[in-house]
Amino acid sequence: MRIAAFGIHHETNTFSTFQVDLQAFQSSGLQREGILRGDQIREFHGDTESCFGGYFEAADKYGFELVPLLFAATDPAGTISSEACESILGEALQMLRDQGPWDGVILNQMGAAVSQEFPDMDGEVARRTRELVGPDVPVIMTLDLHANVSQQMADETDALFIYRTNPHLDARPLAVKACKILVKIINGEIDPVSALEMPPMVISIMKQDTSEEPMTQVIDAVVEAQDFADIVDTSTGEGYPWSDVNECGTAFYALADGNPEAARNAARYMAQRAWSLREELSAESGPSAADAIRDALATPEGPVLLLDAGDNIGAGSAGDSTFILQEALKQGATSYLTTIRDTEAVATCVNAGIGSDVTLKIGGKQDDLHGEPIEVTGKVVTISDGKFEDPEPTHAGWRYFDGGTTVVLQTTAGPTIVLVSTRVGNVTRQQFYSLDLRPEEFHIIVAKGVVSPRPAFQKISKKMIVVNTAGATSAALSSFDYRRRRRPLYPFEPDAAYPSD
Ligand SMILES: [Zn+2]
Repeated sequence: MRIAAFGIHHETNTFSTFQVDLQAFQSSGLQREGILRGDQIREFHGDTESCFGGYFEAADKYGFELVPLLFAATDPAGTISSEACESILGEALQMLRDQGPWDGVILNQMGAAVSQEFPDMDGEVARRTRELVGPDVPVIMTLDLHANVSQQMADETDALFIYRTNPHLDARPLAVKACKILVKIINGEIDPVSALEMPPMVISIMKQDTSEEPMTQVIDAVVEAQDFADIVDTSTGEGYPWSDVNECGTAFYALADGNPEAARNAARYMAQRAWSLREELSAESGPSAADAIRDALATPEGPVLLLDAGDNIGAGSAGDSTFILQEALKQGATSYLTTIRDTEAVATCVNAGIGSDVTLKIGGKQDDLHGEPIEVTGKVVTISDGKFEDPEPTHAGWRYFDGGTTVVLQTTAGPTIVLVSTRVGNVTRQQFYSLDLRPEEFHIIVAKGVVSPRPAFQKISKKMIVVNTAGATSAALSSFDYRRRRRPLYPFEPDAAYPSD
């Protein structure tokens, strides 16, 4: 049994000012080797907790030949250029054409990719794959929990599988499960029929941790529905709010064995449960930067973890926001650790050299969404190539990171600033350990994200505060100019109704 696997992994923030071109895939903070082909995929993903890690495990376990074709991934950012989409997808499809025939195909997608041409790029990947292999070769897709699942994605595949945890620590087991079901589909043991329900609602980033109420209740419904008669598997896509596309929002997917009505009922059951919780699920919460710093400074024992919601790198922001830093300096915080992406400042520090004293403006340079550049004076303590590795499970199972040339700047005011060159998220303490910094020893740690930093930093923190900052990933969704999302959509249109029939 020969099964092909490829993927183009991207979460597209259509409000981000970063355009994603081919170069962005070739120099990614998440995948330091750029676009991977063939055996390179096993080399860099075989021993990770990512989906590819799971496909390889399943191949050994269920006795099929996994043929990894191509894997392109880059950090969440703006819309993917048509050129990048066509070049990467074209190459993957050519490999699929040249190396067949296949018993099955696995698509490793994130699920919220938008290209200039295709608002539902994941659906387009599925459509062209189906067109190429024909109707008789099973095609499945594994997805991130933040997928904006479309009807096209459901229609053009035999089955969709989505992580169930956020932070995403289950990518590998999810992928193993998906492969197990794929093998059954190939062997004719399951006749896959599916249903997708898209209640008109968006879940706030503040409410997307699957271990916290009320999201736990939504996941409970997904787990319950999986045990309904004739149901093979169930999923929810929490949705990714900053993709301004028709399918932006929450979706529920049920896969049944030969029973379309069972699939429909299970999908509706899950969707109905989420819909009844829509008010709590869409609530935006959290203090301002000023209040968060005040609270942190008043907390006797640290570290206090501040999660910068508006500069959520894993959701496509700039990584150079200065709103919290500005408050920290204003209120006199000294034991303070943060990253700021600023290639210009990195260059200045590298030119000055280790041990030099510098005065420079940092951050707030990408756009006008993330605060003003701030002038600081300090000493260049460390210069590194910015590469770090975490073999432990991280968000979505990434292991080999690349922050680009990185500088540790010890400011005279107190805060320790890690200046990075790429927008790599704060999802592992190894980012700091690799620079001889121990986040455990700081009173305040700022992580630019909401949920993805939690596995790494929550366990060493005495307190965690989600800071409701402005930025390209602000929780205040009404501040964005949506043009393409469906309407009505709750909470934008509070009178949205479901079910519509
Ligand atoms: Zn995600």
